[in-house]
Amino acid sequence: MTAHDLFLLSFGEAPQAVQTTPGRVNLVGEHTDYNGGMVLPMAINPHVDIAISIGPPGRASIASAQFETASERRLDERANGDWSDYVLGALRTYAETFGWRVAIDSQIPHGSGLSSSAAITVGVIKAAGKLVGDKLHDDARKIARAAQSVENDFIGVPCGIMDQMAVAVLNAGECMMLDTQTLDFDAVSIPPAWRFVVHHSGVYRRLNEGRYADRQAECESAALKLGGKPLCSYDLVSLEAASLSDLERRRARHVISENLRVPAARSAILSEDAPLFGRLMDDSHASMRDDFSITTSTIDKIVSVARSSGAFGSRMTGGGFGGCVVSLVLACELDAWRKRFERAAPMVRFVC
Ligand code: ADP
Ligand code: MG
Repeated sequence: MTAHDLFLLSFGEAPQAVQTTPGRVNLVGEHTDYNGGMVLPMAINPHVDIAISIGPPGRASIASAQFETASERRLDERANGDWSDYVLGALRTYAETFGWRVAIDSQIPHGSGLSSSAAITVGVIKAAGKLVGDKLHDDARKIARAAQSVENDFIGVPCGIMDQMAVAVLNAGECMMLDTQTLDFDAVSIPPAWRFVVHHSGVYRRLNEGRYADRQAECESAALKLGGKPLCSYDLVSLEAASLSDLERRRARHVISENLRVPAARSAILSEDAPLFGRLMDDSHASMRDDFSITTSTIDKIVSVARSSGAFGSRMTGGGFGGCVVSLVLACELDAWRKRFERAAPMVRFVC
């Protein structure tokens, strides 16, 4: 059911506005965004539609086509673990005296590293801002910061700003290299002959499960021992000389090497060098598997099938411990590649 129809069904009238926001796949640059580094996200076709109207003051009525029971919340409530927390947190960007009716329909699988949470928070902040005439909705960086604050401060997930910037700025198929310290970004045009294909591992996870926060704490402790600046400010040589535990060294090596792969990947795109881009994807996956320990055996298997089916490169994308795999293939080889992949891994779901 569309967001518009769900709104009509839930509230008996048409919404005042409908906002569409894409999901994103990160091509290279994993766990660099909260370490002051670079990322290379691309917006994807699967998206979320948010139908919204002003409602009775101080309250939010929230329905989602993907969650069975609608949620009635007060705007001064705290997060309580319900699926509607992200919507509520985003609505709380504006005065608690406003009231809202919201209906959501999303094609982005949640808890899968394709940024359903950022698409929802950014989409709600944009749509609600337009309805109340708030200037925030004119500035993608401010929207992204407000959406990050929903996850960091309201939900309690210590995520970086990549997802929110990507979905606030990009349209489906567009890619950017983003400096997460300055929020400066360059548009990067993907060669028309390339296709980034996303498959789902079947393993869902929530960023607030704790393992994401563990990685963040490990990075912080390594950064402190290296001198206190964000991890991406250091190079691999200074890492070798520093006195770190084996675990801290491996975590820092992933983040620092991953950060170097981002501008290299951008250059590979600009020179349309698919084999080089594929090698960088493979290196990124190995680093997430061996140094950052965030892949799973199912994900490793999918990556290996993608490669043996003929992809230039393949890697897990997103925060890890499940979620999705992205692979690079040429458009003219896509059908043959998908047939080989599906023969070898028939249960693995194609996302886009
Ligand atoms: P992701 O990698 O998809 O961003 P997160 O764990 O960060 O995963 O966010 C998932 C959360 O976002 C869900 O638990 C839910 O609260 C919210 N969410 C995602 N999709 C929907 C949806 N279709 N309707 C309502 N809330 C959603
Ligand atoms: Mg998320």
